[in-house]
Formats: sequence, structure tokens, C-alpha cells
Amino acid sequence: MLVGSLDGVRISAAVAERGPEYRCPECKGLLILRKGRKVVHHFAHKPPTSCSWAKGETKAHLEAKQLVADALARRSIRAQLEFVVDTLPGDRRADVMAWSPKGRQIAFELQHTPIGLDEIERRAFSYARVGIAQIWIPFLGSSVWANGRSRYNGDWFVERYSPRPFERWVHGFNGQDGMWMYDPKDKAFWLGRLAGHQIYVEESTWYSEGGDENYSGGFHRYSKRYKELTLEGPYEAESLLVKVKPRRAYTKNGYNWPAGRVAHLVPS
Ligand SMILES: [Zn+2]
Repeated sequence: MLVGSLDGVRISAAVAERGPEYRCPECKGLLILRKGRKVVHHFAHKPPTSCSWAKGETKAHLEAKQLVADALARRSIRAQLEFVVDTLPGDRRADVMAWSPKGRQIAFELQHTPIGLDEIERRAFSYARVGIAQIWIPFLGSSVWANGRSRYNGDWFVERYSPRPFERWVHGFNGQDGMWMYDPKDKAFWLGRLAGHQIYVEESTWYSEGGDENYSGGFHRYSKRYKELTLEGPYEAESLLVKVKPRRAYTKNGYNWPAGRVAHLVPS
């Protein structure tokens, strides 16, 4: 985690000094401040602990949260790491919460590990209910680079990409604006779009009992499993602006999207 509590006041590991007793804002347990070189400065629970906030967190996730918060701060946009939203189910922390100049909240959810559809929908509906705009940013896995190729216009193209259910959800949530994704290796953002992946069904002919000639195949159909993924980028966090738009509620193929405010990134 990136934020601890010192005498009841939130403090970021980036600015915390060694010495005082930092505590977990959730369980009030003692924290260890880790200011190493390999991993972004952070706090860890002093074992033993049963706190839900002490669950394994990846270096990439810590790094991404700090990166987004720093980029916002450089633009003089108020932002807080691991901000607690009391109405959220489960882990009540938004990875990063930002405030528009008019004071409206925008939650950044940086999704390093897959999240279940039920869980993402619960969180999304919860944000929407209280009027918090939201942006979900899935992390790109290395298979995207191994299985894709660069296109003439500089886009990265993966012809057979098997999106995880939550990625399909995020893509649907964002609609025409595409889905921003994060590459933890280069610490860069890409604008991703999914499109139908076509499979050719071979033509075949057979004869039925009455001597009728039958044909099938000879056409393209869309794959259920695979999509084409096109990535536009890379963009550094500093080069992206935040824009908020409303969207309507929608349900399709078992996916549910709330009416609410969606945040998008826009290259500046
Ligand atoms: Zn704790």
C-alpha cells in the first residue's frame, strides 16, 4: 500500500520519513515503511496480520498508482492515492481519486489482476450511484507484444486476442472511446479497441438421401473467443488529459453497465 496513517493523518510513503510509527488506516496495525530502490516506496503490514489491505499487491500495481497520482499532481489536479470511498463494496479504496477543478470526483481503477464480472459491476454501480466518474484501466500482458505486430500507421495490432471478461466489460463501458490500457514494462498507456475476429468456415457439399445436393460453409463468422485488438500509442501519463462523459445504463449478453459518468483519457 502507498498510504499509511500517522497520528490519524494520511501520509504517502513517497514523502514519509523513517522513524515514526505508521499505522494502517483500515486495521490500525503497525506498518513497515519500505523505501528501497527496486520498488516504489510503500508500506507493508508488520506480520502477523489478517487485514484485507495486506493482501499481496504487485510492484507493477504500486508503480502504476504512484505514476497516475504524480502525473495528476504535476498538472495541479488534486489527487489522492488509495482513497477510501465509504459506499464501495469490498475493498473500499479507489486506486487513485482525482478532483476536477469544480470538485467532482474521478476514480481511477488500475486493474493488474483480473477482476470478476460480479465484482467490477458491483464497484461500477456503486461509483455511479454516488456520482463518482470512473475509469478502468486493464494492464497489458506480455502476450500482446509477443503475438502482435506493428502496423503502417504505428498502431500495434493483435489479430487473435482473447480478452478477459472484465476487459470486454470495460470496453463496453467506454463505448466508442475505446479502452485505455497500461503497459507496466514501459510504464506507458495505450488506447485499445476490440473488434470482431473473423474465422473462415470452409465450404462443403454433401448429398442427402433423396439425392439433394447440400452446401454449407464458404463464409466468415465471428469468433466468440477471439477479438482483434488494436492499440494506439504509447502515451506517457503526463501527455494525457482527463475528460468526463455521461453514459446510459445498458445490459447485453449478461454484461451490465450502469448509467453514470465515465472518465476518458485524451492525448494533449
Ligand atoms: Zn491493515
